[in-house]
Amino acid sequence: MPENPLLREERSLIRRPASHATVRGVVLFPGPYTVGMSSLAVHSLYTLLNTGQIACERAFVETPRKSVFSLETDTLLRDFDFVAITSSYEIDWLGLPRALQVSGIQPRRTERSRRPLVLMGGPAVTAAPLPLSELYDAALIGELEPVLAQFREALLASDPAACLEQLAAVPGFYVPELHSRPAPGALQRRCALDLDAFEAVSAILTPHTEFANRFLVEMGRGCGRACAFCLARRAYHPLRWRSLPHLLASVRRGLYHTTDLGLIAAAVSDYPDLDGLCHELARLSLDLRVSTSSVRLESASPPFLRLLARGGQQTVTYAPEAATERLRRAIGKPVTDDEIFAAIERALAAGLTRLRLYFMVGLPGETDDDREAIVTMARELSGRFRQAHFRLNVGAFSPRPHTPFECQPMAHPRSVQSWITALSHSLRPVKRVEVSAGSARESALQCLLSRADERVLEALCALPDEGLGTALRGLRAVAGRELELLGPRGATDPQPWKVVDFSCADTAIST
Ligand code: SF4
Repeated sequence: MPENPLLREERSLIRRPASHATVRGVVLFPGPYTVGMSSLAVHSLYTLLNTGQIACERAFVETPRKSVFSLETDTLLRDFDFVAITSSYEIDWLGLPRALQVSGIQPRRTERSRRPLVLMGGPAVTAAPLPLSELYDAALIGELEPVLAQFREALLASDPAACLEQLAAVPGFYVPELHSRPAPGALQRRCALDLDAFEAVSAILTPHTEFANRFLVEMGRGCGRACAFCLARRAYHPLRWRSLPHLLASVRRGLYHTTDLGLIAAAVSDYPDLDGLCHELARLSLDLRVSTSSVRLESASPPFLRLLARGGQQTVTYAPEAATERLRRAIGKPVTDDEIFAAIERALAAGLTRLRLYFMVGLPGETDDDREAIVTMARELSGRFRQAHFRLNVGAFSPRPHTPFECQPMAHPRSVQSWITALSHSLRPVKRVEVSAGSARESALQCLLSRADERVLEALCALPDEGLGTALRGLRAVAGRELELLGPRGATDPQPWKVVDFSCADTAIST
């Protein structure tokens, strides 16, 4: 069998799947390789499940129309004992039923044979487990580490039915076939309380990702800020950081393989001993090139920005989200204009001359003036900072479950798209400012899917491959008039996502 060309360019930092294992599984990422291999969740699952009698491979959905084979042994999905799907965004669900079907697995649980078991986890399923509950055999609500031992043990059970019975007995797993439909708050979210008890780092280096050949190190989970639109803050609550010695030990391990380091956290610059970390990283290797997933305006200190610039990084990403102080306060991001300008000055002083700024339109309480203020701010930035180049990413607000904005309406995708188009047009003449526009349809689909219930699988299975507009119309048709899922949700409207209790169950379990 010829080796997959992607494998030839990979450097594995862990043992490859063992050929003598008794249980064979595959981590399925419901998107392309380049995106999936940028996700630490894929690396972690692959590492955690390749152990003892379990051999785990990887597979990616490049296009839902083509059968999916594993990367390592070119095995079709249907020939594994289990398929473990990690899903960060609801938008990935659009192609998932089709991808399973063309890979020999019926997407509806009741219509398929017992093997392979289809298991799901990740923030999208944690936040809204019901929409795909007719598809998966079991879903994990929350993080894997606190239930890892029971999960591995269940995978080694004598048969799939026994595996599901074992999983159903573990708080955090939802097994639709064995559990009754959950009442509000019935599903407990699991989370690892002590991050120093384990590592979450790259398992494989590859040039074909956003973080090409970078060794990724997870610094922490959760976020101490209170942005009212943000699911990440709720999905990874409470805020937890790895200690400095633990982080440095992980980085040293990475340095055996590469000098490119990627620090991953919801808000990397909020790390409690940020300057201490910068000092230690600078001492570790003169060649170390550090990059990050995200930076908070207020907490990005000069030593931290210099560390990023030292390795050749030119770009830093900030997310003001709104251009007026009033709206920023209303969405829980109370940063002043002066703080934004000061942060940009600090970035430029450190040598970071390319600034990516994230804004949203369609936010609750937003007015025409707030949108116009994005143009005013861009003009001011361009005039004030002549050595800088700005890229404004303008996306559409989508109300996320389990956040303070969960019941807010989503503005009609056509209106949102017209606002984004008008902004792009107004910003075109502004020097050194580029705009990259988000898709209102994608945000609408995300909202619709996260607010849906089991009935949505029918629509997902029937979706043609004709783009987001068709998908949106198809899903709305199934949702029906009485379930206008993009509208405001009142107290008497169904809120299927509420079946999850988003407080961390492990806080109670450990006390
Ligand atoms: S700072 Fe970022 S991760 Fe934290 S709550 Fe705000 S948007 Fe979410």
